[in-house]
Amino acid sequence: MATLYYDSDADPALIGARKVAVIGYGSQGHAHAQNLADSGVDVRVGLREGSSSAAKAAEAGLKVTGIGEATAEADVVMILLPDVEQPDVWAAGIAPNLSEGDAVLFAHGFNIRFGYIEPPAGVDVAMVAPKGPGHLVRRTYVEGGGVPALVAVAQDATGKAHGLALSYAHAIGATRAGVLDTTFAEETETDLFGEQAVLCGGLSALITAGFDTLVGAGYAPESAYFECLHEVKLIVDLMYEQGLAGMRFSISDTAEYGDLTRGPRIVDGHVRQEMQRILEEIRSGSFAEEWMAEHRAGRPRFEQLRQEAAAHPVEKVGAELRAMMPFVSAGKARPQDVSGG
Ligand code: NAD
Ligand code: MG
Repeated sequence: MATLYYDSDADPALIGARKVAVIGYGSQGHAHAQNLADSGVDVRVGLREGSSSAAKAAEAGLKVTGIGEATAEADVVMILLPDVEQPDVWAAGIAPNLSEGDAVLFAHGFNIRFGYIEPPAGVDVAMVAPKGPGHLVRRTYVEGGGVPALVAVAQDATGKAHGLALSYAHAIGATRAGVLDTTFAEETETDLFGEQAVLCGGLSALITAGFDTLVGAGYAPESAYFECLHEVKLIVDLMYEQGLAGMRFSISDTAEYGDLTRGPRIVDGHVRQEMQRILEEIRSGSFAEEWMAEHRAGRPRFEQLRQEAAAHPVEKVGAELRAMMPFVSAGKARPQDVSGG
């Protein structure tokens, strides 16, 4: 079994003795900065000129400066910008303001794993990656809990990087829930694979194909929506609470027999082979290269695919049905909070 770290395994004094800069105030940034401040850590938020987040951060009682200034002033810099934006901001505002012995932290391994950011030899490079969206990192902290997190060390210049990462994890509430060791490579590769093959890509494609099959055969789009999308949550909740066997215990024998005999025909050898190829594209860096190039070209293909997906009939019927079920989305995450990675 892997080692899990809890509150008593972390030394809060380590992060308490440092000056921390949180760069970015989005989903993760606002949560880390506010949790650190509430834990008594000396934290400032580094934002670009004219950032619309500056007012929000100031309203939360946080000190706000430019990115270069925050980096220069601090000796621990947590980079919470979108992954594809990080290399340019790193080169312009962060790298020139680092000092020997500083620590650079990430919440996802992408830029280190694929070499888009190459920190100088004299700084610690570590990861504290909460396994949940920022609004949950904040909400659970306020409620006295936390979101589990992964920690990793890519470069240990001071010999103290792991302890510092654990101490940071403690200050954002993660050691209340459990913190696990990983590596930048493992976190990055499994995170990308999960979101592409299963969580986001695989599941969306499965739902869409099921919906299209029923509607194409003449069934009502409303029935197809309830069957192929709405009910996914009910089944996933059972899996989340009790595993696959627990889910199968709760469904009818007819459903279970259909599950066991038909599931492997849907996710067949071809699908498993394609999963291998997707994993290979991640590990070779070719997915990262493709995505970085798409981003730098202004995201033409991404925007087109987004629009096509948004125009799919499952979205139209879904919007109408959900409008009649306000309880479905009441108090739940806003779409911008639910991104992966
Ligand atoms: P986000 O998109 O919510 O926020 C990014 C912030 O950076 C925003 O304040 C935005 O205005 C600012 N920003 C964008 N481009 C910028 C630029 N060029 N210069 C300066 N500022 C810029 O990002 P996020 O989802 O919080 O992700 C931050 C990091 O956390 C990423 O490494 C991500 O992989 C990781 N992460 C995210 C989640 C999640 O659920 N959102 C979970 C775990 C890890
Ligand atoms: Mg500094």
